[in-house]
Amino acid sequence: MESLESFRQELRSWLTENCPPTQRRLREGEIQPPWGSPAFEEEAKLWLERCANAGYTCPTWPTAYGGAGLSKEQEKVLKQEFAAMGAQLPGQSFGTHMLGPVLLELGTEEQKQRFLPDIVHSRVVWAQGYSEPGSGSDLASLQTRAVRDGDEYVINGSKIWTTGANRADWMFCLVRTDPDAPKHDGISFILFDLKSPGVTISPIELISGASEFCQVFFEDVRAKADNLIGEKNKGWSIAKRLLQYERTMISGMGAGGGGSASGGKKKRVAKRLRGIADAALPYVGERDGKLADGALRDQITQCEMDTLCFTLTMKRSGEEAKAQKGPSHTASMFKLYGTELNKRRNEILTTALGTQALGWEGEGFQKNELDHTRAWLRSKGNSIEGGTSEVQLNVIAKRVLGLPD
Ligand SMILES: Cc1cc2nc3c(=O)[nH]c(=O)nc-3n(C[C@H](O)[C@H](O)[C@H](O)COP(=O)(O)OP(=O)(O)OC[C@H]3O[C@@H](n4cnc5c(N)ncnc54)[C@H](O)[C@@H]3O)c2cc1C
Repeated sequence: MESLESFRQELRSWLTENCPPTQRRLREGEIQPPWGSPAFEEEAKLWLERCANAGYTCPTWPTAYGGAGLSKEQEKVLKQEFAAMGAQLPGQSFGTHMLGPVLLELGTEEQKQRFLPDIVHSRVVWAQGYSEPGSGSDLASLQTRAVRDGDEYVINGSKIWTTGANRADWMFCLVRTDPDAPKHDGISFILFDLKSPGVTISPIELISGASEFCQVFFEDVRAKADNLIGEKNKGWSIAKRLLQYERTMISGMGAGGGGSASGGKKKRVAKRLRGIADAALPYVGERDGKLADGALRDQITQCEMDTLCFTLTMKRSGEEAKAQKGPSHTASMFKLYGTELNKRRNEILTTALGTQALGWEGEGFQKNELDHTRAWLRSKGNSIEGGTSEVQLNVIAKRVLGLPD
């Protein structure tokens, strides 16, 4: 305990010395350059560099790979102190939350040395090459082929719904290496550079107006054979393990952020939900010091209670899981509930804003209203990405409850 307390004190001094002013949440009376301004961007870069150099972008990873080598308890203190400072943990990505943990568990020593430090420092941005035009929920039916040729694999096929592929440097990709084996047994998990000859990336525009998705085509793309993770044709179990990490990451949205529930998290959740009531007030009006619409008040209260219960359940599960290594199939329960909760929260706010939530552009709408419309539309994808809610129900039935197929 004493050493945890001294770690907390050290961290506080480190944060005070190193966290640039624009990277701390705006406090009343403070004037900061706005988000996205050159000053903000410059300090965001500096903040990432300082955190990465200290290993804090991947706090529990071993120092040998650039992490800070912290225990779970120290990581909790780190999250609390960052939250108290109002500082974001920078550089969080598919690399830090999905590929990195899988490499730590299943990569060779050489692969860990080669890929992990670049993730810690955000030097390489990763894309996830899982879904294909004919293979989403039934992912194991994927058709992208990889054929061994000397010390390389030659890849042909395509991936779809690849988040951020147009901004990514490398892809972790599921490929079929044995087309004659039963579908789960002929898949491998391989890494390659998206700048390789034969890769074509086409952005897909989304309902939210953003273009974060891409379709990615491979024509005789060459990947080094020593970039294959685990054994050839045994990639399915790696794919599933990574999905558990992904689902844990996504489920954090239900609690209003990532990670486990701390005192700071509970306050943030309460603030966010009070935020719904506050945001609704100008549209709905007030009676007797309460939101005038009783039905809406009821929905907000219910959502608030469910969010706090969810946050506490995630916390309890996280503590119970300390003994085991990483997430388990219960990640599907949290993914299902957390993403449905996040959609519900967005729906409630849409109801409160009425027609003001349905604008796209123009003078009739304020910025916060237009932002909400986009966030509401984006939240629809939460219960699809990382496996749909129906797929999570199947996993829960089979793997958590042990029901027959
Ligand atoms: C925001 C977002 C980001 C994404 N990012 C990525 C990414 O970076 N990389 C990547 O590889 N993929 C990504 N995806 C794709 C995502 O993984 C797939 O969309 C998802 O797995 C569903 O597959 P599908 O779209 O082919 O739908 P389908 O599998 O065709 O499903 C259609 C409907 O049928 C239902 N269904 C299908 N099978 C069953 C079943 N057995 N039981 C009950 N219901 C069933 C589904 O629940 C769904 O409602 C992303 C998706 C979204 C929305």
